[in-house]
Amino acid sequence: MTTRTEASAYCDGGYISLNSADRLPVYDPATGEAFDCAADADAADVDRVVAAAVRAHRDGRWRSLRPAERERILFRFAMLIDEHGEELAQLETREQGKSINVSRMLGAGAGAEWMQFAAGLATKISGRSFDTSLPGGPTHWTTFTRREPIGPVAGIVPWNFPTLIAIWKIAPALAAGCTLVLKPSETTPLTAFRLAELATQAGVPDGVFNVITGRGAVAGQALSVHPDIAKISFTGSIATGKRIGRLAMDRMARTTLELGGKNPAIIAADADLDKVVQGMGLGAFLNQGQVCASASRIFVDTTLYRPLTEMLEAMIQAMPVGPGSNPAATVNPLASRQHQARVRAFLADASAKGATLVAGARVPDTGFYVEPTLVLDPADDIDLARQEVFGPVLAITPVASLDEAVARANAGVTGLAASLWTSDLTTAMQTIPRIEAGTVWVNTHVLIDPAMPFGGYKQSGIGRDFGVDWLDPYLETKSVCIAH
Ligand code: NAD
Repeated sequence: MTTRTEASAYCDGGYISLNSADRLPVYDPATGEAFDCAADADAADVDRVVAAAVRAHRDGRWRSLRPAERERILFRFAMLIDEHGEELAQLETREQGKSINVSRMLGAGAGAEWMQFAAGLATKISGRSFDTSLPGGPTHWTTFTRREPIGPVAGIVPWNFPTLIAIWKIAPALAAGCTLVLKPSETTPLTAFRLAELATQAGVPDGVFNVITGRGAVAGQALSVHPDIAKISFTGSIATGKRIGRLAMDRMARTTLELGGKNPAIIAADADLDKVVQGMGLGAFLNQGQVCASASRIFVDTTLYRPLTEMLEAMIQAMPVGPGSNPAATVNPLASRQHQARVRAFLADASAKGATLVAGARVPDTGFYVEPTLVLDPADDIDLARQEVFGPVLAITPVASLDEAVARANAGVTGLAASLWTSDLTTAMQTIPRIEAGTVWVNTHVLIDPAMPFGGYKQSGIGRDFGVDWLDPYLETKSVCIAH
């Protein structure tokens, strides 16, 4: 088998050299130095890789396999992901910067379980038979539905969890019998290639799962407008999601859009503050807040504002700093220099507009670090309070009542996730339905599972991933009516 070079795409079960001579450097966020490159594919390169996925779809080499055989191959793929978990985790930390502990847990480790979950769904695809009211007489009718794979899918992935989110594209597409072209983020292109190699090793037929790298505006755009791509499964920013949605609508391509959020944590007057602080350690600062579901705004009952702020300040000042390769360090670099500058610009703007910033542990000057930071009682109309920062930044606002907290939490245009912290079951049960978010956690934040549907209300996206209905958006429904 040929190996990956800087000019490669993974296509038809092996590496091919691309037409584009441009390369994208891959940086180690801990040092700021480039350590690898990936191809910056152009539209002609995208055409070539899509053609492979189209051939594999049309000749039925995957969708016509017995479901049990597809399931078995995907289970084998899950096992291989698990076996190669350490290698994938090391690669993810090198290109993305996050703690090796997080890469192990929320990279290949969790990814193998998501793949297993989807593999099991491959044998549960079913239509319905039903009675109709068509006129009878000598003619009899048999009517039923079939669920059929939608066609070649484009999976477009962001840089915050490159391995896990790639698996969230690969798993449902392949379990449904679709073929796939995966485009990882230009910031973190490397783990996707290892996943493609492992898929081939597991027995996924050539051409069923292909990988192409390149910039969003070129390769991503070419995939989004490609007439042979039946569905785009996109995870990323709201702005890009809207753009892809508009382009897809032009030719009625299907979309699943998993976008960003400005996720609130609502702290009721009876909350257990020790649990809140522990929960925010993960909920707000996991992967330096580069998590779509991260808590980025706390609305806390006025009576708890001061003690909570002091406890969170103590926590962020005690966080150990270091590269992701140091398992003891929880403050690690952000994924890119551009993103570091973006997060710092939010903080500078908030400070210029009168918000009080409380910085945590000091960070090195080399690498793409940003101090974990609390922003105290920012005005509702500044950018940091309204937009997704996607960094280690937590705004804290005192509120007079739970009603005020819910109203302010619901005020924005997004609705991905939220958490509610209370010791009272009635408060929890009465508040959950009032929160406009696709996931609501109570006394925890950010935990997800393959069985729990995930996706956004409002501008946080369209569609749901995971759960027993995960394959639905990858299947068309065909009604069949037989006269006999
Ligand atoms: P991004 O939108 O900039 O890029 C995401 C992907 O889209 C990349 O592969 C990029 O190359 C591609 N892309 C960019 N422009 C494109 C275009 N014009 N056409 C087609 N593709 C294009 O997002 P990002 O900065 O990589 O990721 C961070 C964002 O992802 C955050 O907003 C975060 O909330 C969101 N996210 C959402 C979820 C979720 O499940 N809801 C999960 C993780 C991340």
